[in-house]
Amino acid sequence: MKIAILSRNAKLYSTRRLIEAAEARGHTVDVLDPLRCYMDINAREPLIHMKGKILPTYDAVIPRIGASVTFFGTAVLRQFEMIGTYPLNESVAISRSRDKLRSLQLLSRKGIGLPITGFASQPHDIPDLIEMVGGAPLVIKLLEGTQGIGVVLAETRQAAESVIEAFMGLKSHIMVQEFIKEAGGADIRCLVIGDKVIAAMKRQAKAGEFRSNLHRGGSARLVKLTPAERATAVKAAKTMGLNVAGVDILRSNHGPLIMEVNSSPGLEGIETATEKDVASQIISFIENNAKAHRTRTKGKG
Ligand code: ADP
Ligand code: MG
Repeated sequence: MKIAILSRNAKLYSTRRLIEAAEARGHTVDVLDPLRCYMDINAREPLIHMKGKILPTYDAVIPRIGASVTFFGTAVLRQFEMIGTYPLNESVAISRSRDKLRSLQLLSRKGIGLPITGFASQPHDIPDLIEMVGGAPLVIKLLEGTQGIGVVLAETRQAAESVIEAFMGLKSHIMVQEFIKEAGGADIRCLVIGDKVIAAMKRQAKAGEFRSNLHRGGSARLVKLTPAERATAVKAAKTMGLNVAGVDILRSNHGPLIMEVNSSPGLEGIETATEKDVASQIISFIENNAKAHRTRTKGKG
């Protein structure tokens, strides 16, 4: 197959591993910087250009679109979908998963366990909002934060009120969430491909920190999942419409709670912690599923 990887940097671990795995399985791979793609949108034949040339036709495209280029990156991916290239994850599913609030609303509709989450716009409603999620301590999150940036633990009601008020004053959209204390600064990253969790790791925050993100100094090790955790992770990825997803779970005293679903999960942490060849399993999934014009939305989203 001829595979395109949409990635800003061919030297990143995840991109490198996907190239390696695809080539080892006999495919040809081009890494395309999504920001260098430009689009010819017309009534006859959708096209993508790069550096003055029309891109060839690919059998499949692997989007590795960073959070900072979501808007442009998903537009490029949509163009691939219209051309009929099989996307590992669809543009609509990626857009959905990038908005934490929208994701939680979709998950809640399916009855999937979540930390109680509140969303409001008026300072007037702050006291009730805090009450709704069970009072302090609570977690405040920017809707579009990543790598732990924009996630704050407010230990007291007073701290919560002033931080929420400050964010509202800046017109930033935030959600307020029940703090799952018993998770002990750890979460579980489940790597879902299709309808299976193929690798899972436990990430533990460094001392004095509640955020377990590896970018915030957390450490990772292999973990054994319960059947409930496995089922929850697969259902969450399916609900978001993602074929490949990094599903993050908090272990609460009333079962697994989904924190977020990532559409471009990093491979370095999980491959290192689990010693699994995740990249090859992604390529194998593409081999089994890629067919022209086989997106659910065909770029209509
Ligand atoms: P990001 O997208 O920036 O990674 P997350 O929602 O995943 O944001 O939060 C970052 C980290 O903060 C999580 O990995 C987890 O360790 C911790 N965390 C987030 N929400 C909660 C919560 N409600 N209760 C306990 N810990 C949380
Ligand atoms: Mg996270």
